[in-house]
Amino acid sequence: MTDLDVNPEGAHLPLEPRAGHTSRGRLERVLRRGEFAVTAELNPPDSADPQDVYDRAAVFDGWVDAINAVDASGANCHMSSVGICALLTRMGYAVVMQVACRDRNRIAIQGDVLGAAAMGVANVLCLTGDGVQAGDQPGAVPVFDLDSMSLLETVRIMREEQRFLSGRKITSPPHVFIGAAANPFSPPFDFRPLRLAKKIEAGAQFVQTQYCFDVPMFEDYMRRVRDLGLHERCFILVGVGPLASARAARWIRTNVPGIHIPDAVIARLEGAENQRREGKNICVEIIQQCREIAGVAGVHVMAYRQEELVAEIVHETGVLKGRRPWQRLATPGDAMVAERLQAVLSEEAVTPTAAAAEAVAQALEADSPKEPGTPVS
Ligand SMILES: Cc1cc2nc3c(=O)[nH]c(=O)nc-3n(C[C@H](O)[C@H](O)[C@H](O)COP(=O)(O)OP(=O)(O)OC[C@H]3O[C@@H](n4cnc5c(N)ncnc54)[C@H](O)[C@@H]3O)c2cc1C
Repeated sequence: MTDLDVNPEGAHLPLEPRAGHTSRGRLERVLRRGEFAVTAELNPPDSADPQDVYDRAAVFDGWVDAINAVDASGANCHMSSVGICALLTRMGYAVVMQVACRDRNRIAIQGDVLGAAAMGVANVLCLTGDGVQAGDQPGAVPVFDLDSMSLLETVRIMREEQRFLSGRKITSPPHVFIGAAANPFSPPFDFRPLRLAKKIEAGAQFVQTQYCFDVPMFEDYMRRVRDLGLHERCFILVGVGPLASARAARWIRTNVPGIHIPDAVIARLEGAENQRREGKNICVEIIQQCREIAGVAGVHVMAYRQEELVAEIVHETGVLKGRRPWQRLATPGDAMVAERLQAVLSEEAVTPTAAAAEAVAQALEADSPKEPGTPVS
């Protein structure tokens, strides 16, 4: 990290704008400097406690250039990406706000993009999103007013033309770095680089790919990407993650659409004494092989429910070459915030109890008209 990647007035404030940059974010700076970028996905909590988000972000401290806040991935409800971004930006973290088109229409999404940019979100990942049938509430009404392509275009229009899709003017545009997802491992393979080209045309400046467990297949994809010159128009971050066991790998392969795990990877996990450790080793090797592929600008680590391994994985790969991404340092205000939070939570715990009921009763009594002749105390 260079000092230039922090606003001296406060880590939660936007960085100085740079010529040729569309955002004021650290991720764009790292990529444009030609450094190998590292991003990681935060597993969103099923909770309204902000501390759950801070704890989950803290495991990445000093190891990643941005944290991805997913948008109900797998069509399962968790804390929203907007909520997570609000919490993390105020602490100075760089975030990638993921936006899926499944749950909100163009009116809601455009408003969210403006709100996010106002909070300091510098990166937006535009997704069509998993269908509702993939999740645990298949009866939910799917929206899909936009798809990834039209969403990319929408955010680009908002930023560059300073207008909503309606044409109405935006007085201060969202200065965001625009991203998309790509899946090099899903047939038809020949079509995948062309789909990436379309996403770049629509506005994608960076992509984060689906999990890579098959490096030769990814090499083929990148060859086509380079032939089309796409790596010069878009930063490509390869998606990776540690598999917890052969059983988990089989389950993912069968149940999660678009994820390709070769038999050889599952056999290697099965033959290992410690499958979790082997899964991590495989992940480290995949990152090391992928970073040698021309056109790969970084890595996106999705260590679902194994987030505590991310630091170790990044360290062992050596991809940062001694560089230390931004790390949140404790401030004197932290203790005060923690204390206040504790107080609020414990106040909440006693709210419906006798103390509150008594206070309400006293207030009502003070306000209520007295019987004639009742002594006034
Ligand atoms: C890095 C990353 C992060 C993601 N985060 C989220 C998230 O936060 N929330 C969420 O809901 N989903 C998320 N997804 C899942 C993703 O939305 C779906 O996998 C989606 O089908 C493909 O990505 P896209 O949204 O960019 O869709 P697009 O590329 O726009 O594709 C749209 C349509 O193309 C077809 N299609 C594309 N890929 C496939 C495939 N592999 N198999 C079958 N049909 C396909 C489908 O009809 C799909 O609806 C993420 C995926 C990746 C790679």
